[in-house]
Amino acid sequence: MSALLEAREATKVFGGGLFDKRVTVALDDFSFAIESAPPRVTAIVGESGSGKTTLARLLLGLITPTSGQILYEGHDLQKLAGHDRRTFLRDVQMIFQDPYEVYNPFYRVDHVLETPITEFKLAASPAARRALINESLRAVGLRPEETLGRYPHQLSGGQRQRIMVARAVLMRPRLIIADEPVSMVDASLRATILDSLRQLNQQYGMSIVYITHDLTTAFQISDDIIVLYRGAVAEAGEVDLVVRHPRHPYTQLLIKSVPEPNPEHAWGSVEIRPEAADLEDGAAQVEVSGPVGLLPTGVAASVAAKAHGGHLLTGCTFADRCPYVMPMCHESPPPLFRIDPGRAATCFLYRDRPALASEELNQVMAAERGATAR
Ligand code: SF4
Repeated sequence: MSALLEAREATKVFGGGLFDKRVTVALDDFSFAIESAPPRVTAIVGESGSGKTTLARLLLGLITPTSGQILYEGHDLQKLAGHDRRTFLRDVQMIFQDPYEVYNPFYRVDHVLETPITEFKLAASPAARRALINESLRAVGLRPEETLGRYPHQLSGGQRQRIMVARAVLMRPRLIIADEPVSMVDASLRATILDSLRQLNQQYGMSIVYITHDLTTAFQISDDIIVLYRGAVAEAGEVDLVVRHPRHPYTQLLIKSVPEPNPEHAWGSVEIRPEAADLEDGAAQVEVSGPVGLLPTGVAASVAAKAHGGHLLTGCTFADRCPYVMPMCHESPPPLFRIDPGRAATCFLYRDRPALASEELNQVMAAERGATAR
C-alpha cells in the first residue's frame, strides 16, 4: 500500500543563475514516508538552515524538488489534478508559524472557519455549519461564544493560533504539517496548543508532522524524530531513543545545551535554541559547473562543495564542529547507519553497523518500537 505522503530521494537547491554558479543545498537526498496508519506524530528538528521549512514546502507542493519526488498516495504531487488535487488539499493541512499572517484583518475570524466549509461542502445547512465550527473550536479549548464575531486583532496570538488548529480540525485531514506552530506564542499557551495537536492525533487519528527548532517540545509530543543538519538527516528514529540516548555528535550537542543536568526535570521547562554561530551558518553551499536542474541526487554530500569560509568539503558536513572527527570524515560523506532497530545516524562512528540507502530510513521509522539503546 502506498504511503499517504512521501519524499523520495528529494533534493532541493536554490540559486545557480547564469553568472553565479553557487547554489544553496536546502535539502539533500531526503527520503521519508508518512503512512496513513497508525497515525503518528513525527518531529522534524533542526536549526536555521537545516532544511526543515524547505521540506514542509515540498511536502505541501508549494515548491518542486530539484531532483527526486514528492508522492501523495503514490502519485507525483506536481502532477495531481482535478479530484485528486482537491482530495490532497483536504487531506493535508498546514498550520503556520505566524497565524496573524493568515488572517485578513477586515474579516471576522469566523471567515477562516467558514471558507473551507463552503469550499469543500463540509456542511449541508447553516445549522450544520455552525455545529461543525463550534465542535472544532471546543476541540482546541476555545469557547465559541468568546471567539466568534471578533476581528483578528481582538484575539491573542495563542487564540489566533488555536483557531488555525480548529480550522484544521473541521477539515478532518489525515495529515497536519505544523511549521513552528508555537514559536510565536508565550510559554503558557504553548502547552495548550501542543495538547491540542496531540489530541488531534489520538482522538481524530490524524498524523502530525511537527517542524521545530525546539527539541524540548519535539520530545513532548512526538513518537518519532528526524534531526536535520544542513539539509540532511543526522539522526532519526523513535523519540525516546534519540533524545535520551543520542548517538550522532550533533544530536548530543543539542541535548547537552539543556542547562538542567537531569533531563527528567529539564524537558518541558527549557527551550533549546541554536547557538548564534549556527544561525549564521545556514545551509551548505556548493559550486557547480552545470545547470542546477542537472544536479545529481546527493550533490551536497558527493561532490566537491564550497561552504562558508571557502573550505572544500567532501565529507561529513558536521566535521568542522565535531569533537570526534576522524581523517575519514573529510574524505567521503557518511551514509546512514542503522544503530538500533528503530534508529539510524549518519556518522562514521557507527561504521560497524549496517549502512542504509536514504530511502531505507522508512524501514527504521516503521520498525517495531520498544528497542532499547545499547
Ligand atoms: Fe563527526 Fe565524523 Fe560522525 Fe561526522 S562522520 S559526525 S565528523 S564522527
